[in-house]
Amino acid sequence: MPLDRISHSHRHVSLALIPASVRVRAVLAMIAVMLPFMALLIVTFRSEYGAATVLQQDGHSALLTAAYTHIAIIGILASLWIVTVVLVTLRTVEARVLRPLRHVTHVASRLAEGELGSRVDVGLMRMIDMRRLATTVNVMAEILEKLALTDSLTSVANRRQFDAAIAGELKRSTRMKKGLALLIIDVDKFKDYNDLYGHAAGDMCLQRIAEALQSTVQRPSDLVARYGGEEFVVLLPDTDASGAHAVASDLLEAVRGLNIAHAAWGRGIVTVSIGFAVSSPTSAMDAGRLIERADQALYAAKQAGRDRALMNETMNFPAVSARPKLVS
Ligand code: GH3
Ligand code: MG
Ligand code: MG
Repeated sequence: MPLDRISHSHRHVSLALIPASVRVRAVLAMIAVMLPFMALLIVTFRSEYGAATVLQQDGHSALLTAAYTHIAIIGILASLWIVTVVLVTLRTVEARVLRPLRHVTHVASRLAEGELGSRVDVGLMRMIDMRRLATTVNVMAEILEKLALTDSLTSVANRRQFDAAIAGELKRSTRMKKGLALLIIDVDKFKDYNDLYGHAAGDMCLQRIAEALQSTVQRPSDLVARYGGEEFVVLLPDTDASGAHAVASDLLEAVRGLNIAHAAWGRGIVTVSIGFAVSSPTSAMDAGRLIERADQALYAAKQAGRDRALMNETMNFPAVSARPKLVS
């Protein structure tokens, strides 16, 4: 559904969203509060009216006026009571239903606008029906976020998650004065693999490579993502050049260790080439620059014969045309 239609429908469904059980309970509560008072009012009014009729016949006009005054006072008190009950009911509905509902609607709108980390604060919900609604929205948001940020073939992070992560990690690494390493990993001679074994086998091969990459990185903050096609990226926060080099070697080994036959490639098994670059505390780069530099190193790794990892110099920003430095 297009976003404008989603936001439009939010504005019109909020009242209809009040659960039927809540509406029934509100009406029953009002009747329960009003009934005894209305019964008392009717009984009092009947007895006062009867007395007034007798007094009128007997010509006791002063007592008659007092009886009418009595009736009027009861009427005013009844009106005040009704107004109080209505106001208290409205306040309760506002606090327990409408305000929480507006919060849920606000979160749903933010989710529809792409802020997938938005969640309903279940603690604000005092009624069980509203808590259920809030929990359901949060579960939906969880699933939506996972689907939107995960690559459907390999189940690692997708490009969207990587783009958000690299921007955030670059800011963090500058603030914390730490290195941030980026590795770009490309499967060697994968077109030939597809041509020889078929596209379905190619898909399965990508899945196994993704699993191997994911299980090789150690820290929870390390991110493995599918960058597109048969290319993956690995983002390593708090990592310098030697750390990135060690991880790149482990990744090469992990893919070789899968031992997936590739008869159309000189190595005989599926291998990858890796290009990497490090944004250091003294020479922070923006995301585009870091990716460009890792990509240059990947290109050089391919040129140098594939099945290897190369690092691009990060210090002093050598010119784009400068040849990356071989580290393995
Ligand atoms: P190189 O060693 O230079 O990287 O050679 P290559 O054949 O791997 O590179 P090239 O860019 O020529 O081919 C990439 C191939 O990856 C072509 C495409 O069919 C395949 N590919 C990309 N995405 C997928 C996918 O999702 N599934 C499968 N099965 N194949 C894919
Ligand atoms: Mg490629
Ligand atoms: Mg390739």
